[in-house]
Amino acid sequence: MKIKCIYGPHPSRCWGYSLGIDPLMPPRKCPYNCIYCPITPWYFKKTVQPQLYVSPEKISEELDEFICLNGCVYNTIMIWGMGDPLLNFHTPLIIEKVKKISLNYGCSERVVLRTTGYMLAEKWVEPVFRTTDYILIPLDVVGEPRKLLIDPLDRAKIYLLRKTIHSLPKYAKRKIYAEVNMFRNEWFNPGESRYLLELVATLNSIGISKVFLKTINRPGRTPDIKPLRGKQLVKARKILEEEGIDVKICSSTPEQNIILAGDIEESIYNHVLRKPLSVKEVIKVYGNEGVVYAERLVEQGRLEKINWSSEIYFIPKKSLDIFMGG
Ligand code: SF4
Repeated sequence: MKIKCIYGPHPSRCWGYSLGIDPLMPPRKCPYNCIYCPITPWYFKKTVQPQLYVSPEKISEELDEFICLNGCVYNTIMIWGMGDPLLNFHTPLIIEKVKKISLNYGCSERVVLRTTGYMLAEKWVEPVFRTTDYILIPLDVVGEPRKLLIDPLDRAKIYLLRKTIHSLPKYAKRKIYAEVNMFRNEWFNPGESRYLLELVATLNSIGISKVFLKTINRPGRTPDIKPLRGKQLVKARKILEEEGIDVKICSSTPEQNIILAGDIEESIYNHVLRKPLSVKEVIKVYGNEGVVYAERLVEQGRLEKINWSSEIYFIPKKSLDIFMGG
């Protein structure tokens, strides 16, 4: 089964239907190992060193093929996949091409880049400030718990991120938002005021005043993390806003369902490699038939089913050899 660079579109709570563009491919490459990371928690490369991975031509070809088959069934193009997209030197050119192709077909031109942010001051990255609409930096756990929950490389410390963002010109900084993922486990609850105030202090020191706030909604590197919903999320929002942060809350997925054309089994497999999918999400994007295909992928030993937070999720099978290379 082909591993593709394009997956979804994913029914996102922040971005509507968001077509994923993965410039890295398995295994995951990232300077972090977040506890809530939905991808390949069993094997990954921890790095801040960019290399040449997926070429712009390969992504153009796949995007062309996707739009010809399905049309403009997405509201957003999300540049993110197996880790930090700015670990591929080609990514600025990939974004340029993707934007051009999407516009040529008359599709949405909202482009979001999700990155840890450490490469943003590099000269070769500069074009992304012109071609993207939002640059999202995951920033939720600061202080002592960060070591355990985000597990960053030494070269991915907060003071280095601060240094990088401070060095950017104003027009570039305007595109930067923090993505705050709320979750809890038995010893940590970021919704507590002391953690939120520490987070606000860090955001202020870095110079980020706009956040997308959401709770986790799928399993991560350990199954014991849980979402932070309801009153606790409302309280978190209130505290952040009282401290002067502009908060956009991500809470509801698009209402309408879409049904994709093409090789559904392959599409589900590629989607799940980047994001475990609940049964409801499979139906939303691939129809009831999608569940049959997902079950078939379980029988083939490519996916497995787990129960997380009272829902059934399809996740990649741990033993898949695609996670071992690279
Ligand atoms: S959630 Fe994002 S930042 Fe965290 S490890 Fe996964 S890819 Fe990296």
